[in-house]
Amino acid sequence: MQVLSLLTSMLVHPPEHVFPESDAPVSAYRFSAVGDIAVFGLCIVMMILVSQTHVHKDRQFRTLITILILNVIASVADLFYQLGSLHPGSHLLGLLVFRLIRHYCLTMTILFYTLYLQQPLWLRTDVRRRYNILSSVLVIASIFIDLFLSILHVGFYITDSGTIHAGFNIWIALYVLFTAAIFYLIIKHRNRMIRQVFWGLLGTNLVAAAILLMQGLHRNGSFTGVAYFLPVLGLIFLFHSNPYDIDTGAVSDSYFYQEMKEATEKRRTLVLMSCNMVNFTKLLKTDKDLKMEFYQFFRVNVRHGVLYHFPPDRLILSFPKAYATQQDRLIEKMLEDFSESHKRFGIDFKIVIMETSPDITHSGDYLWMIEYAEQSMPMNSIHRISDSDIRGFYKSDYILSELEDIAQKKDLDDERVLVYCQPVFNLSTKSYDTAEALMRLTLPNTGLVYPDQFIPLAEQNNLIHNMSMIILNKTCGAVRTLLEDGYEIKRVSVNFSTLDMRYESFCQEVQQIIARNQIPYEKIAIEITESRSEQDFHLMKARIMELQKLGIKFYLDDFGTGYSNFERIMEIPFDIIKFDRSLLIEASKSDSSYYMVSTFAKMFNKLEYSILFEGIETESDESCCVNMCAKYLQGYKYSKPIPIEELHTFLRHNSV
Ligand code: C2E
Ligand code: CA
Ligand code: CA
Repeated sequence: MQVLSLLTSMLVHPPEHVFPESDAPVSAYRFSAVGDIAVFGLCIVMMILVSQTHVHKDRQFRTLITILILNVIASVADLFYQLGSLHPGSHLLGLLVFRLIRHYCLTMTILFYTLYLQQPLWLRTDVRRRYNILSSVLVIASIFIDLFLSILHVGFYITDSGTIHAGFNIWIALYVLFTAAIFYLIIKHRNRMIRQVFWGLLGTNLVAAAILLMQGLHRNGSFTGVAYFLPVLGLIFLFHSNPYDIDTGAVSDSYFYQEMKEATEKRRTLVLMSCNMVNFTKLLKTDKDLKMEFYQFFRVNVRHGVLYHFPPDRLILSFPKAYATQQDRLIEKMLEDFSESHKRFGIDFKIVIMETSPDITHSGDYLWMIEYAEQSMPMNSIHRISDSDIRGFYKSDYILSELEDIAQKKDLDDERVLVYCQPVFNLSTKSYDTAEALMRLTLPNTGLVYPDQFIPLAEQNNLIHNMSMIILNKTCGAVRTLLEDGYEIKRVSVNFSTLDMRYESFCQEVQQIIARNQIPYEKIAIEITESRSEQDFHLMKARIMELQKLGIKFYLDDFGTGYSNFERIMEIPFDIIKFDRSLLIEASKSDSSYYMVSTFAKMFNKLEYSILFEGIETESDESCCVNMCAKYLQGYKYSKPIPIEELHTFLRHNSV
């Protein structure tokens, strides 16, 4: 009670005889408990807020909490010290102890503050170690020096009559030294921080130093704690400000990588559920019902985990595996709830579920892996990533690095690119007089790689063009050898991508490569699929017209798989239409399908296109196609793709 009433009286009437550290007469100093009480309260509030909002209880977090605890102890010790000094003489040892605790805690606050800054300022480990050892030695030495100065009556001491003498204060010297070090570090390493952080750190420290200076000039000791606390407040705002996305309640993606890294290091397994919903973020801002539904889902299902937001529309929920003992049930329940919501709102989605794994070496790979899985998923489906998916991902990552290397080397004879070919049967000459060139890769770590594993990857990363030219060059070389060896081969067709056509130099490159290999232009044909865009269509048309003048024939590949715009197909003078295997399968399903496919075939035939059927596997496939105006037949029935170097053996054994 006595303490409380004293505190109240100190708040209302700041006691004139309570003093900070100095040699000046006691009565000249003023003290108010406002500063210490404010710091005490603020630190407690900050501890609660930071613990609640900070996702990663990492080293920086622990340092921050330590600083806040030191501040709390310092403010309490100061209050007791100041209260005690109202009754000088009565609590001599107590006064000494509280004063020492207060100074020690405040000095340690600055030390931990510097310790905290060492990471964002990218201080080298050896510099950090030296700084930390030196400053710790200084603090310990100061405790002894302070006590020693008290004994000598040079520093803080109390006379027999009860008068307090502040004397020389080693702690002020230490404060000046450490603060100078902080300013030095911030200014020296200003280029290692974003501008806002630099100005934030500099500003808060300047204000703190100014408060202490003003306080000293006005002989007041009330705001020492506040001055030490202000830079800490700066840290909280600069490095720990609210990471939540206001709309989704999700944490920003940068924390995700940190958490994945930590999970790998500490060998903790986390379950990750990624949900990619088309246009979700935008809809959440405009559709109130959706927002309510989402919050409800969030409240029920996102209790044990952390939700991350990857702009624009991906949310990833992570939760510790150990947490969910009935994990499958938890996931199942979440998916059930999700499916209910999906029924109401019908937003298209792809859900990927996976666990963190020691096989995943980089934290950034998790997102790549989820995206990789999504590529082969239909809309509105759920996929659980398995070990073989992870292996597939790393394989594709490896293939991509090799593709990049191939594209960069620009070697038209690159040994990693192989040409296979599939002979094509000509029904009118009853012989194999054409073939299709098909690309394969042979890579050091994987051996033979098939097109489905690298063509989409090469196209997505714009690495296809150089490979197309390598295939063209190698095909020309093989054709030349065949011709020189006296084999009758009418032409070999090479597959090109729509992306190839976009190159201004396309026609020139094709022409040069064929010419350099010294074979007639008509020995090469180009296979191309329908283009989606208007722009590509016009480009394709122009390129085809130009190269056809040289005698190069053009095949429309995979007819029946795209959206088959007849108007456009007719506008380009293709020589051969390749009916995709799917049309053949369709035709054998029912009479009406057969009628449809054969009508297409008849129509093209009337318009003087030649028709090639792909994917002939059986006798019945063959007879079906023969009845549908086929001129060329290609498929496993005749030959699987073979290395182009083996084509002459095939031709020798299959000549009529
Ligand atoms: P595509 O152009 O339609 O090639 C025909 C594919 O069908 C080949 O697959 C071939 O092996 C396969 N095939 C042949 N006969 C049969 C059969 O009787 N039944 C079945 N089910 N399939 C058969 P491949 O070699 O794996 O090539 C796949 C795709 O990769 C090609 O489809 C083509 O789109 C692309 N591709 C291959 N080589 C190249 C290339 O050099 N450049 C470009 N841009 N794409 C290529
Ligand atoms: Ca083809
Ligand atoms: Ca095809």
